[in-house]
Amino acid sequence: MTSITFHGGVNDIGGNKFLVKDKDTTLLMDFGMSFSEEGQFFTQFLNARGSNALTDMFEMGLLPKIKGMYRRDYAKHVGFDGNEETEIDGVLLTHAHVDHCAYVPYLREDIPIYCSEESKLIMQNFDDTGNDEYLTQKEKFQFYKNKKGEVSRATGDKVAYPRKIKTFESNKEFSIDSIRVEPLPVDHSISGVHAFILHTTDGSIGNTADLRFHGRRKDDTEKFVERCGESDLDLLLCEGTRVDKDSSLTEYDVETKVEDIVNDTKGLAICGYPIRDLDRLMSFFIAAKNTNRYLVIDMKQAYLLKLFTESESTKGKYPSPVDKNIKIYIQRGSWGLLDKNKDKFSEKQLYADYATWQRPFLDYPNAIDYRDIQKKQNDYIFFCSDFRLQDLIDIKPDEGATYIRSLTEPFDFEMEHKVDQVKNWFIHFGVLKKDENWHQIHVSGHGDGTQIKKVIDGSNSKKLIPIHTQHDEYHKKWHSNVVSVKQHGSVDL
Ligand SMILES: [Zn+2]
Repeated sequence: MTSITFHGGVNDIGGNKFLVKDKDTTLLMDFGMSFSEEGQFFTQFLNARGSNALTDMFEMGLLPKIKGMYRRDYAKHVGFDGNEETEIDGVLLTHAHVDHCAYVPYLREDIPIYCSEESKLIMQNFDDTGNDEYLTQKEKFQFYKNKKGEVSRATGDKVAYPRKIKTFESNKEFSIDSIRVEPLPVDHSISGVHAFILHTTDGSIGNTADLRFHGRRKDDTEKFVERCGESDLDLLLCEGTRVDKDSSLTEYDVETKVEDIVNDTKGLAICGYPIRDLDRLMSFFIAAKNTNRYLVIDMKQAYLLKLFTESESTKGKYPSPVDKNIKIYIQRGSWGLLDKNKDKFSEKQLYADYATWQRPFLDYPNAIDYRDIQKKQNDYIFFCSDFRLQDLIDIKPDEGATYIRSLTEPFDFEMEHKVDQVKNWFIHFGVLKKDENWHQIHVSGHGDGTQIKKVIDGSNSKKLIPIHTQHDEYHKKWHSNVVSVKQHGSVDL
């Protein structure tokens, strides 16, 4: 018998964790965090506690209690010995958004993770430019005998284990024991997203992942729906994030609207967009080209473009970090030596001011800093994330500057506060007048109601389970056999 247990991602936007059992095969489809669930208990400064992280996460019902699934260094604190035989044969990732993958670092390193090359590179970007452990697990809380024979605490890279990452190719079927998996690319607001059709002993299951028809890869979504239609699906897990909304602009509209605004801008054009959405970066890149400006990206984006350019299978999909229309912004390092008198310290010290992954960019021919931007402000579209607003203090935008915000609009109090804060920065620098609205130009990664109806109709699945939504009433309106599942609930095929 084939069954799916929903440990998240139902009656909620995000937090997808679907446990699929088929004969002796057990798969986890996505292992994401739910912002709403975690937000009930935890905040930035109130977290699951280090070695007790699993205890805390189990107590609050945020992670399913499954033996042999979690990293040994954490598992032993919850009464598991950590080495138990695991029933999990693999984790299948639709994409590298945190509401689908954020809990991967909790997994034991020998559990295979199946994902696209793009998802792997994005997770590598998280690891290398931050402190995450998506691709490599760094064993914590270990003791060892040091040279003097004393017991010491092992830290960091000394005990690092690479995870078993298995990248799949689009449209190329593969098997995980008794389950045949078809990974089908779909259009969404991050690169490398795949929907799945699982062929199990008792029938076939589709999972839409997150999708839309209004981005740069609309044809992919069309093909996925077509493929579902041919596959005689018994069950479709269908997303519905924006099922209650109608009509969407397209990613191409973003591109032209940005271009129009930049054309009307006399000074520096400043923009904010999701840092890992390379399709959005493309919109700004094209707008920059068409307005004879350079797109100035930060080091994290440069690093991501570098990873995509160096990988054989993603090469050429996005601009290289040394593209002639791109400049890389060298922010001030921790000691701020960038513009200090170089007679007082060695070149080596300047490099030491940056993290290892940042250092190579200092030598790039297209590296620039705030002084270059100050000299000719209307030469650039400057990417400024909400987390690097301090760079404006160095740049000091001249009169005639503009700000284009290409991020999702706030939908809760916390986000509204954040937006007010960002606004204050731009008012402070005279980019925005008080009570004036900035240019908000964004399209969502999710299809609207009409688009989701198209997926439901085209897939022609016998049964439908709404996922990634708080509005299953629309699915019910559009399909005669909708099963709504509760958190931790199971459905048999
Ligand atoms: Zn997503």
